[in-house]
Amino acid sequence: MTAPQSTTGADRGIGANLRWIRADLVPGRFFEGPEVLRRVAPFVAAGLLPFALLPFADGSLTDPRILAAAALVGAMITAAFTIPWSRLPMWVQAIPPLAYFPVVALLHDASPGALSPWYPLVALVPAWFALYGTRGELAVSALAQGALLALFVWPLGGAEDTAAQLALAAATVLVTWTVGGRIQGIVGEMRRIAGESRAILNGVDEAFIAVDEDCIVHEWNAQAERTFGWSRDEMIGADLVEHATPPEHRGRVRDAIAEFLTHGHSRLMDGRTEARAMRRDGTIFPVEMTVSSQLVGGRWVFNVLVHDIGKRKRTESALSEAEERFRRAFEDIGVGMAIVSTDGVFLSVNAALGELTGYPNGELIGRRFADISHPDDVEADLNALAEIVDGERYAYRTEKRYLHASGQPVWIALIVAPIHDDQGDVVHMISQMEDITERKQAEAKLTHQALHDPLTGLPNRVLFADRVRMAGARRDGGNLAVIYLDLDTFKPVNDTLGHAVGDRVLIDVARRLERLLREGDTLARLGGDEFAILCEDVDDAEARKVAGRVIEALDRPFMIDDLELRQAASVGVAVRRRGRRGVNAEEILRDADRAMYKAKAAGKSRFAVYEGWMGGSDDSQEELERDLREGIGAGQLRVHYQPEIDLQTGAVTGAEALVRWEHPERGLLEPSQFMFIAQATGLIAEIDDFVLRQACHQAARWREEMEADEQFTVSVNLSEHRLADPGLSGQIAQAIADSQLPPASLCLEIAERSVMDRRAQALAAIPDIESLGVRLLVDDFGVAISSFSTIKRLPRLTAIKIDSSFIAGLGVSSEDSSGVAAIVGLAHGLKLVAIAEGVETAEQALTLRGLGCDRAQGFYFARPREPEAFGELLDSARYGELLA
Ligand code: C2E
Ligand code: CA
Ligand code: CA
Repeated sequence: MTAPQSTTGADRGIGANLRWIRADLVPGRFFEGPEVLRRVAPFVAAGLLPFALLPFADGSLTDPRILAAAALVGAMITAAFTIPWSRLPMWVQAIPPLAYFPVVALLHDASPGALSPWYPLVALVPAWFALYGTRGELAVSALAQGALLALFVWPLGGAEDTAAQLALAAATVLVTWTVGGRIQGIVGEMRRIAGESRAILNGVDEAFIAVDEDCIVHEWNAQAERTFGWSRDEMIGADLVEHATPPEHRGRVRDAIAEFLTHGHSRLMDGRTEARAMRRDGTIFPVEMTVSSQLVGGRWVFNVLVHDIGKRKRTESALSEAEERFRRAFEDIGVGMAIVSTDGVFLSVNAALGELTGYPNGELIGRRFADISHPDDVEADLNALAEIVDGERYAYRTEKRYLHASGQPVWIALIVAPIHDDQGDVVHMISQMEDITERKQAEAKLTHQALHDPLTGLPNRVLFADRVRMAGARRDGGNLAVIYLDLDTFKPVNDTLGHAVGDRVLIDVARRLERLLREGDTLARLGGDEFAILCEDVDDAEARKVAGRVIEALDRPFMIDDLELRQAASVGVAVRRRGRRGVNAEEILRDADRAMYKAKAAGKSRFAVYEGWMGGSDDSQEELERDLREGIGAGQLRVHYQPEIDLQTGAVTGAEALVRWEHPERGLLEPSQFMFIAQATGLIAEIDDFVLRQACHQAARWREEMEADEQFTVSVNLSEHRLADPGLSGQIAQAIADSQLPPASLCLEIAERSVMDRRAQALAAIPDIESLGVRLLVDDFGVAISSFSTIKRLPRLTAIKIDSSFIAGLGVSSEDSSGVAAIVGLAHGLKLVAIAEGVETAEQALTLRGLGCDRAQGFYFARPREPEAFGELLDSARYGELLA
């Protein structure tokens, strides 16, 4: 838009009209508001005019009628400016104009004649009402005008031709009524348009200003008032450039207008331009303006729309600052970050992510998330991302593998969260990735260590038991055989020739046994010189054959350097059918163990197969269950206590309560002989409860009698079964209350496996237990090592008890210490006490102390014993010696 155009657009028309119409022309209210003088002035002048005409109408200023008329005019003018019209009803304002009629009548009376010069004056009043009055006032004034003219016929006289005078009166009324009505209509219409235009102009949120060629303001809307701080009254008629343009730009604006006036165009009028404007208080601010031109009555009028863009500018710069800050944080954060599209394509990545994945310098951009993911993880990822996009989940956290550019898998901790737009739709995703490869490797190593014998690399007892359980749980029938072997003469070899030789013998045994395995068999080192083989789908005869081959394989001498060693084994075999209840791993191992003892007793280097009489048949299991039920009722349960020793001072720091069963015929039974029944039948709950109450009372008594150390705690085992019982915390609270034992002196032992396996259920009771103030300990730690985070979440956890399978190896091989060291480190990292159990030798105890383990428990210090016999153990000097 370069050439000035004459008016067509709506915004131009509005500005042009307004300049000639004032919206303060409110009908009926002509003596009020601003500019009243300008409005009333013509009528005042017309009112005074007759007196100037007096000499031409044979009138005399001394005539009392003329004086009265003059007084009336004076009163009218004075009234117009002195009476507080706004407080009076509207119609009262019609009185002063109507007073013209008596003025005209008086003047006419004072200067009789057929052609009175006053006649035209009667038009003054209807003209007034046509412009400012209501329709009623116009009608009244027209009639009054006719009446006045008629008055000259009869009461006043002075009309020579009565009929002509009446015709004149009638014609005047008619003309006044029609023409005056029309004028009133037009004026009203103009007022309406003006009002609407004003409303529109004030409604727009841009400042509207109309100026003429000299930059004099003709229009100034409400937004202009707000934007510039000048009111409309102040600006109408003022110079725009002087008031609203910063001094240094004024010259340019005037030049632009001059240029337009001479050449017909100016850059200023090229669509939207940005400029600087000045407010009333002198502040300068950025504006965007549109100028258009219009020819009105031969002169140019410029319509200017001004928009204050200060806020937008500030938002823009705040936005770019925020963007910059985000970009810096994104780059410098040190962990991998990426913005990813909803279909999983990298849109933007930081340097750390490039480093982590081996794709530097943004090479990742455009690649898919899935392209660099480990194939095993892709599906889970894509599902999770789809759920985020669909709004079904808020964020996705996982640990997964990326494929490094080199092809190596990299473990990362990944968090993906959606980025929404204003409508709440997911537009992108932001993901954060941290390299956790080292931690994962350490965890994997620890898990491996926890489940394997470091000397031979074979599975350990824990893993073996797990394999037996898994094999036993398969529902396809068939048999399970455990072949248990114990070297007959290992201890003397170890003792006389040293550990190094002993270790090599064990390794050799492992290698020979491995050669006997079929696909799917598991060979494990259970501890010391004990090994076991698990075979699936074998019958009795086949199991015997394997046992025979084991004996054969070990029969050949072992060559260690120049030494030739004989190392025969005794072998026990137990075979079970997979049944409805699965196979109890402990049971089958125990049976194989018993058979092995039988073989040893029968003269070593031979095998024996477990027979029902060695322990109990299915029938005898039912009998056992009955016995146990009765036994509990008859008070045959006992609680034995095993001390827990501080490895630094030798002090007794606590006792673990372990249940025993005083069987009337079979003597004192250990948990391994009846707990499996108790577990299978639910009797375990009663047993646990009994032990809990018993232990609390016993501990309270010790505290009292022996003034036992404040720190002394009694530990009670809780079965997994029991943990899921909602009544548990109530029973614990009861036991504490009954015995008056301080809650912190009671420690509950929860097997790590039960914390892991039935996480949700098992942990449900924990918050209640927490509120009781008792302590928690994770027992048999190291077995289910995969998730430290669960352990960390247990409240009031004070200690972990390292599983005895870790300790068994300690005296045998030097490598074994690394697993224990790792667990002790972990425990201390979590601010927990590390307790070792199953400590049987001085060597183990001292090694544990060297590794920083805090406390220990085991046969080396004391076997579990009756409460009466426990008291004498509280003499720490004894343990001090054992640890010297
Ligand atoms: P646990 O909680 O791991 O208890 C430690 C077991 O190791 C005890 O066996 C203890 O006699 C034995 N032990 C202690 N020092 C040594 C050592 O130097 N060498 C060896 N080889 N063993 C040692 P126990 O008393 O036969 O209990 C076996 C398991 O029965 C316990 O393992 C525990 O899981 C369970 N148990 C015992 N009493 C209760 C009870 O009242 N309630 C529940 N739910 N379970 C119990
Ligand atoms: Ca325990
Ligand atoms: Ca334990």
